[in-house]
Order: sequence, then structure tokens, then C-alpha cells
Amino acid sequence: MVIRILDKGVSSLIAAGEVIERPVSIVKELIENSLDAHASRIDLNIEKGGIQLIQVADNGVGIPSSQIELAFHRFATSKLKTLAELEQITTLGFRGEALASIAAVSHTVMISRPESQKAASRIELENGQILDYAEQGFRTGTSVTVSNLFKNFPARKKFLSSGGAEASRIVNLCSRYALAHPRVSWNLNLSGKSKFTTPGNGSLVDAVSGVYGAELVSEMMKLELSRSDDLTVSGLISSPKLHRSNRSSINIFVNGRWIHSPYLNQAVVQGYHGFLKERRFPICVINIKLTPSEIDVNVHPAKTEVRFAHPGEVFNAVQHAIREALMSGSTIPIFRSSDTENTATNSMEKTGAFWTSNLHPNRSPSSSASELIIQDLPTGTDKDLSHIRVLPLLRVLGQAQNTYILAEGPDGIYVLDQHAAHERILYESVLSENNELASQALLDSAVIELEPRLIDSIDTLKPLLNDMGFVFEPFGHASYVLRAVPAIFQAIDPREGFMDVIKTASNEYIDNQRESAAKTIACHAAIRAGKKLSNTEMEELIRLLENCNQPQTCPHGRPTVIHLATNYLETQFGRR
Ligand code: ADP
Ligand code: MG
Repeated sequence: MVIRILDKGVSSLIAAGEVIERPVSIVKELIENSLDAHASRIDLNIEKGGIQLIQVADNGVGIPSSQIELAFHRFATSKLKTLAELEQITTLGFRGEALASIAAVSHTVMISRPESQKAASRIELENGQILDYAEQGFRTGTSVTVSNLFKNFPARKKFLSSGGAEASRIVNLCSRYALAHPRVSWNLNLSGKSKFTTPGNGSLVDAVSGVYGAELVSEMMKLELSRSDDLTVSGLISSPKLHRSNRSSINIFVNGRWIHSPYLNQAVVQGYHGFLKERRFPICVINIKLTPSEIDVNVHPAKTEVRFAHPGEVFNAVQHAIREALMSGSTIPIFRSSDTENTATNSMEKTGAFWTSNLHPNRSPSSSASELIIQDLPTGTDKDLSHIRVLPLLRVLGQAQNTYILAEGPDGIYVLDQHAAHERILYESVLSENNELASQALLDSAVIELEPRLIDSIDTLKPLLNDMGFVFEPFGHASYVLRAVPAIFQAIDPREGFMDVIKTASNEYIDNQRESAAKTIACHAAIRAGKKLSNTEMEELIRLLENCNQPQTCPHGRPTVIHLATNYLETQFGRR
């Protein structure tokens, strides 16, 4: 075999392939160029998911006619001169590869005019070759039109999805940039139809409202955390009332760049722990600002991955910021008079909020979403509105359907779900550090056969399970004998409880195994719906719930309490 250096045409195509995989990669590069050119307005026209046409026009600084040809050379960039500058890079681009790569696989037309020039230059390229150059009239800024994508690369073209799927990738991408850059006015058109528009007034709330719709904004909470001058976390996150079935609405930006980070997604999920039901995910716009030397963006050619100098600190800051926002904003759900048509059972699944915060009992449904969010955002100074204060002292009135505890408080009537409330109490007590869980020996020890996939987990989980009160030992191949269970297990089938704890805990990341095990123990041990309770038992339950850190939800995120506020009752009975 002979080793040869590839000729320029081939090597530049390989390089193009690294940057341009599909239409959305082109959109990304063009948007980043517009942002680097300090545009305050970016208009995008996309036809057939970008397979047919991508046009990105900005009002940025433009490219001087003497340089426009150079911009299409590989490694031609105005953004970086020395290695030392790479350490402190603040622009989104710096490799000088994008325009060259785009022009290598498509028909590209760029028109650009800096303010200092009377006329704009227009350059047209196909498959990397310049077809035409001319001067023409144009406003200040740059417009790039890309068509015939992968025309000469049928194999590549075959790998593209349908126009619809490519379009949705583009919408996702543009949404992220619009959220990361609220100072820029974004207009995205798909096949002539406006997908979204943002005003570019610098307000994140207005950008979120443009992208996701004004209704949703009224259920978002403000995020604010400053660890040092080197690390701040800000943004908007959805209240626990709003959730989605996947992580796609968790948007994380580092110094203005959207990043793909399963690691930080996990920080978000952990921040929401106990506030959302399992497998439900929030809507978040999280802006992390770090000194550039704390990150290395030069990891992936598409630059959606970053490496942090101190990843643990960033993880911790994100998780804490979310926790703090949720704690200060989270409250007992109140029955809102404007939503009387809703029923309690479907409420959690609804966006648009049936529950609302009792910090703002009088908020008027008619005021606009952005007004609402401005009034409603818990600010940094509101941190003392802690969760504990939202469960006032309650007086038990009685039990309904052997399932709900009715109580009276300072502002109306409270309905507690006895199982959810007890689950919360047990969960916090199992997790509490100064509480070693009492163990209760089984009269008849139980032999348990484990599925093969659980045998590995049980070794890792053993210390945790012992801690929680399970005593067991191997008993032949794939079997264990269970000798004791947590004392709170009382009347339940020990075998079933033990299996369930192993199953749920082994599904989790190490960090969460403890909480996951605690959740399952609490769920098994909590009083069931349908059990009659005495007044003393109900009073005791409420007293214990009052002492919980997060009395308002069960560990799975269901509410423990519904509050029928006095003014709601008065409205319903026509007293006001
Ligand atoms: P990079 O962004 O990595 O520098 P590109 O190939 O994307 O490389 O662009 C090359 C150069 O062309 C940029 O450094 C910039 O000077 C110029 N340029 C590209 N797009 C624009 C634009 N929309 N407005 C102004 N200048 C641009
Ligand atoms: Mg670029």
C-alpha cells in the first residue's frame, strides 16, 4: 500500500462533510456568522426543509468586496489570528471552514455590503468554484442563499430525511438561537409561512413568548444564580405544572452557544427531582456564563459539545439554580376560579395551568402573559418564601371517601391525599441523615429469585439496601434469602417490596439510587387510599407533613394538598 496525500478537491470534500451533514448544519453556520457579524436582525427562509433552499439574511457588519472571495477559502477567518486568541475566543465561529464547506456541496450566492461601501458585492459559487462575481445595490448586511444541496453527491442526498424532518431540525435549532439571543429579532419562514418571530428587544420573556407562545410564558419561573464573576446561571424554567414527555425543550447555552450536554441535562433533571413526575421533563432556557478559559469548545467540529475545566462546579450551579427557583416559586396548588371547567384528575397533564400559585392568588386571567410573568417571577430577594411557609397550621375537619383528609386553614379549605402525604413524609424520613432506618426481622425468611439482569445490580446496591433496613444473603445461584426489611414495611409483602426497590434503584444513575429506593420504600409503606383514619391519625399525619421540606408534592411529583382559597369559595357561591 502506498501512502499518498489526498488531492485538494478530495480533502476539502471530506472536510466539508465534517461541517455539513445536512441542511440544519448549514443554517447553524450561517446563523453563527450573522451573530458574529453583530446582526440585530436575522431573517431565514427555508424551502423543503432546506433541501431546496436556505436563505439567511442579516443586518450585520458585512464583508468588504476585497475580502468576499477570501471568505470562501478554507481556514479563512477574520476571527482568530494567534493561538493565544483561541484561549479567549468569544465569537461563535473561528475555524474559517464553514463557507468553504457550504460552497463545496451546493450552489451558494452571497451578497454583502459593509456600511462603508456604496455597493454590495455578489458572489456565486457551485461545488466550490466561483461562477460569477458582480457589484449590485443592497442594504448593509449579508445575505447567503444556498440551493441544490448535495446535487453532485447523490449518496449524501440519499441520507437526508424527508423535508418535514429536516424542517423540524431547523425549527429546533433556530428556536434555540432565538432564545439564546433575545437582542436579535428573528424571523423564521418555512415555505413562505412564518414559523416564529421574536421582537429582539433583549427580553428573554418576549423571546420565549415568540418561540413557544405567550400562554406558556405565564408558567415560567426566573432562574438566577451567581457563583462568582466567572460563573453565572440565568434563564427561565417551567413551573412544575408544565412538563413534556421528552428532554427536547431543555435548552442549555454556554456563553451564548447552545450545547448538547447529557451531563447538564441530568443536572436539570436532578434539580426538578421531586417536583415533576417521573419521565416528565421541563421546558428550560438556561444560560451559563463562564470565563472563556474555563471551557474548551474545540472538541467537536459542529461545536455543540464543550468540555468544562471544572464540570462538577457547573453541574452543581445548574442544579442549585433550578432547585432555588423551584423552592421559592413552588407552592400549594390553588383551585383557580377562572378554570372551573377543569377537573382535578386531568389537571396535571394540562399545560395552561389549572393549579396556580398561592403567592399570587389574585392574578387576573385577562392580563397579558408577559405582564404575568413580570409580576410572578420570584426574584432573588424572595428566597425567604420558602416551601415550609406554604403549608399553614391546619385543623382537621374529617375524612372523605376514606382517601382524602379535609382540613381548615387560615385561608380556606385544604384537601389532602392521605397516601401522597404519607408518602412524602416517609420519603423524607427514609432519606434523612440522622435517621437510621429500623429493621424488622421476618418471622419466615423469604427466598427470592432474581432475574439475571438484577444479579449484578444487587452487589452494587447491597450497602444501600442494608442501610435502609434490608438484610439478605446469597442462597445458591441467582437466589437470595431475605431475613429483614425496613420496619416501616409492616403489613406489606416483603418479597414484593424488596424486588421493587431493587428494580427501581438499579435503573437509576448511582447518584439517584438512594432517592429512588427511598421513593419505592415510601410508596410501599404509605397508607393506602381507602383506609379509614381516626382524627388523631389525621392530625398526626398533617403535623408530620408540616415538618417536611417539600410538603406540597409526593416524591413522584403528585400534589399532596389542594387548596380551595376563601376568595375562590366566595366567587363560586356568588358572595363577591
Ligand atoms: P468562521 O466563521 O469560522 O470565521 P466562515 O467560513 O464561517 O468562518 O466565515 C469566514 C469569514 O467570512 C468570517 O470570518 C467572517 O469574516 C466572514 N463572514 C461570514 N459570514 C458573514 C456575515 N454574515 N457577515 C459578515 N461577515 C461574514
Ligand atoms: Mg462561521
